[in-house]
Amino acid sequence: MITRSFFLFLSQNKFVKNRATKWGPKFGAKTVIAGETINEAMKTVRELNEKGLAATVDHLGEFVNNREEAIESMEYCVKTLDAIAESGVDCNLSLKLTSLGLDIDRNLCRDNMLRILEIAQGHGNFIRIDMEDYSHLDATLDLLQELRQQFSNVGTAIQGYLYRSENDIRLLEGINLRLIKGAYKEAPDVAYQQKEEVDQNYLNIIKSHMLNGSYAAVATHDHRIIDKVKAFTKENNIGKDEFEFQMLYGFRTQLQTDIASEGYKMRVYVPFGEDWYAYFMRRLAERPQNVSFAIRGMLSK
Ligand code: FAD
Repeated sequence: MITRSFFLFLSQNKFVKNRATKWGPKFGAKTVIAGETINEAMKTVRELNEKGLAATVDHLGEFVNNREEAIESMEYCVKTLDAIAESGVDCNLSLKLTSLGLDIDRNLCRDNMLRILEIAQGHGNFIRIDMEDYSHLDATLDLLQELRQQFSNVGTAIQGYLYRSENDIRLLEGINLRLIKGAYKEAPDVAYQQKEEVDQNYLNIIKSHMLNGSYAAVATHDHRIIDKVKAFTKENNIGKDEFEFQMLYGFRTQLQTDIASEGYKMRVYVPFGEDWYAYFMRRLAERPQNVSFAIRGMLSK
């Protein structure tokens, strides 16, 4: 059986990555990635908006090796924000701090973020910092707090599988947070390993964040959690404009439009770019049964 660990291993394997990216996002990847260029991404976002769905775009590219690549990545974010403004679409931007140089030089990463936030603010747009693996958590939250001293149009994501998240949520009161279960393989000393425990902690952090009056983006494909959040917000008179649901592009598309047609805000996370490989592998790790044919196709070409 192909396991979650196998795909997480492949997500970091350079040999397979080189073979796969040579062929572009074909096979299963095409259904979950909106092409390689900004124009392709904008076209996808327009189609989603027409169906009543908001979007957040993410230019894929996780590991940068030097300052030049980190600056290039920042410039690409700026270009994307300009394209969003020009297209007039309902869309914000998600990004990863490692792609802006977090592992190279914190100050470089901060300066890149300040530039992006300034441009986003000019366009009246919002920036979501994706949460990466546990080794980047403290640095991400620390930089977020520094950025928030100058900009309010920025938030991050908090992972339900971590023991410490309930506490982090309290420290981040008032900040627009995306709440997720968590996509990386983390050790038992920092993260719940059992699905039931992750689900329970995930629900707890959603409730805590909403009850303290903060905006929550509930990002999950889990219909059981979604139903519980709908019931909870009704019981607690939390308005449909005080939170949103989010799902990944290409996942549970019927459920996405169903939720939007009930009057909830549904935002679709739309990844695009040439560096799609690691993202695709993490999605396979989550649901190997959906797309396990894709990896065999890529390896045999
Ligand atoms: P799961 O626990 O994977 O699924 C629960 C149940 O839901 C399944 O048993 C099944 O019944 C149903 N289900 C789920 N998917 C499907 C499907 N495709 N078809 C049919 N039924 C299905 N992770 C991070 O670590 N950092 C981030 O910044 C981050 N950002 C994200 C942004 C968005 C918009 C989303 C949606 C996810 C993000 N993630 C991120 C990934 C997240 O942490 C989870 O790994 C991922 O969403 C899988 O968990 P789940 O909550 O969707 O449900």
